[in-house]
Amino acid sequence: MPISPVKLGLSSLIAMGVAVTAFGVSAPIEQGSARHRVVVDKLVVPSASANSFETTRHTLIVQEGDTLDRMLLRAGALDAEFMDFAAQNEEARRLFELAPGEQLHALVDSIGRVQEVRYSLGEEGLDLDNGQATRLLVRRKHGEFEAGLQRIDLIRNSRIGYSRIVSSLFGATNGAGIPDKVASQIVDVLGGEIDFQRDLRQGDELRVIYETLTEPDRLDTEYPGKLLAVELMGQGRQHNAMWFVHPNGSGQYYDFEGRASRSFLRYPIEYARISSGFTRARWHPILARRVPHRGTDFVAAPGTRIRASGTGTVEFVGSQRGYGKVVILRHEKGITTLYAHMQGFARGLARGDRVRQGDVIGYVGSSGWATGPHLHYEFRVRGQHQNPLTVKLPEARPLGEDLRRLHAARAVQLRAQLDQIDTIQLAGRFE
Ligand SMILES: [Zn+2]
Repeated sequence: MPISPVKLGLSSLIAMGVAVTAFGVSAPIEQGSARHRVVVDKLVVPSASANSFETTRHTLIVQEGDTLDRMLLRAGALDAEFMDFAAQNEEARRLFELAPGEQLHALVDSIGRVQEVRYSLGEEGLDLDNGQATRLLVRRKHGEFEAGLQRIDLIRNSRIGYSRIVSSLFGATNGAGIPDKVASQIVDVLGGEIDFQRDLRQGDELRVIYETLTEPDRLDTEYPGKLLAVELMGQGRQHNAMWFVHPNGSGQYYDFEGRASRSFLRYPIEYARISSGFTRARWHPILARRVPHRGTDFVAAPGTRIRASGTGTVEFVGSQRGYGKVVILRHEKGITTLYAHMQGFARGLARGDRVRQGDVIGYVGSSGWATGPHLHYEFRVRGQHQNPLTVKLPEARPLGEDLRRLHAARAVQLRAQLDQIDTIQLAGRFE
């Protein structure tokens, strides 16, 4: 019987997390499992007497050469019934394929029966965009076992980071231990105002607050989450942005004064490397003549996700001579964007579909006239080609009057946190 997804509240997850760490990991018992099977047979307990036994929670780490029954034995479980179920159930069978270092959580009662086993699927079941992970849950219910996959909320924490620019943004964030995924969000959010290839100066200061996500069953994991606030300062310039969640649950980036950030991403792919810019005429390697290059080429590995640079509707999805597999999006204010040479489209993408800024629309390839895998990206305003890297991007819809006070309160909170970074920096100098 499948277990329906259960959403656990943040506080209960944290409480659970703390409880889990409180238990130590028992040392592996180097005894053959066959001997214990005999013991199991002697310990058959009538299931009518269930529920009246104390349970203990154990965190078990898979050792080299471990077996499931040996691991459970370390938690004091001698449960042939559980082992039979795990061997027969399609989902639970995963428990026999764990790699050394992986973690298992077991709830074992005082007469050696398994009441519950939890195992996080790790990367396989991860959905960072929605802050969720997947775990396998096998539990005893009314005397019988059931197994199923369960979506669980990751534990959210926030971190602060500080760096001084030496040459590049990614150089600075790497030096400060700020994850690339966060740096790439900084580019997305401030890329409409700053050209990160040209406008950074040595000594510019970067302050950032971002989320980290941890699996409740694997407290040693930490994934980068959403950029919450960023401030970039240098030589009289100041750029900032903060994530603000509207009361209806949707969120958007604004600056501290409540102005919405740009309605377009400068780069449709993350960690973009530009190979050809916008020119009136350049040598075309396949056509073998000089032709204008009316877009920007981003080199990326085949299969890299291509994101809609702005919110809009799909005007074209299909193949065109030269462009290969191409998507054209129509946006507000007479703007269209074009994404060419794709390997494939996002599943189900069709003409007329509504897409939001950042939605994946396809994958980098080399279809059409392309010498290698790259994204060719065009930006047109009322049919006129513009340079995607320098075109002045329209501002997003401003914050409504009703939300200004809420935004201002959040801005005060985030600014106070950013100020803490300076305190920590100053304190660090005297260590
Ligand atoms: Zn191109």
